[in-house]
Amino acid sequence: MPVNLPAYQSVLTELQEKNALLVAVSKTKSEEDILELYHAGQRDFGENYVQELSDKQKNLPQDIRWHFIGHLQSNKVKYIAPFVHLIHGIDSEKLLKEVNKEAQKNNRTIDVLLQVHIASEETKFGWEPAGLLETVTPDFARQWPHLRIRGLMGMASFTDDTQKIHSEFQNLRQLFNRLAAQLPNFNILSMGMSADYKIALGEGSNLVRIGSLLFGSRA
Ligand SMILES: *Cc1c(COP(=O)(O)O)cnc(C)c1O
Repeated sequence: MPVNLPAYQSVLTELQEKNALLVAVSKTKSEEDILELYHAGQRDFGENYVQELSDKQKNLPQDIRWHFIGHLQSNKVKYIAPFVHLIHGIDSEKLLKEVNKEAQKNNRTIDVLLQVHIASEETKFGWEPAGLLETVTPDFARQWPHLRIRGLMGMASFTDDTQKIHSEFQNLRQLFNRLAAQLPNFNILSMGMSADYKIALGEGSNLVRIGSLLFGSRA
């Protein structure tokens, strides 16, 4: 399926009004598809699988900013630490510790987002919102000198109930605002995918992760 360039342009226009960033989610998509969007000007791409991301990073232009948006296992951090631009799915202290360690080895400071569990489904990863404000304090952030905790990421429930999606994103936005008031460099709110990015933008998202709308549905 060809890349949907008209959809790309119209998403960019919507995002511009909100000062929000587009991460084009290219998991399972070919390098040719990624290059097509790259040549249209896109530089931020998101991937879910470590092996796939490493291969693409080697083969594709080096000025692509790669976002890791999937569930990251501690033992795989080392493969992406040399180049990853932003890790969206940090869901445990163990993972923070590992990313900090690999960042240090690579002489880097790595930007990360904490993934928060806002959906009602059990299967989605993330920190529980309750208690996060008390956990993620400036002292907590200082434990990881090679990381910058830049914000939050969340996925809404998979549902047609738009009110529910609104309220889940709204809760995440409120938590984000309160954390932003107590932490430095905390300014990225990653929420919204193909099906719900308009709702997310309305609720204050400043980074959307969009795949199928741009690249077509995945097998
Ligand atoms: C796959 C994925 C997306 C993109 O989903 P689409 O519905 O194709 O836009 C966004 N965020 C995460 C975490 C994903 O895994």
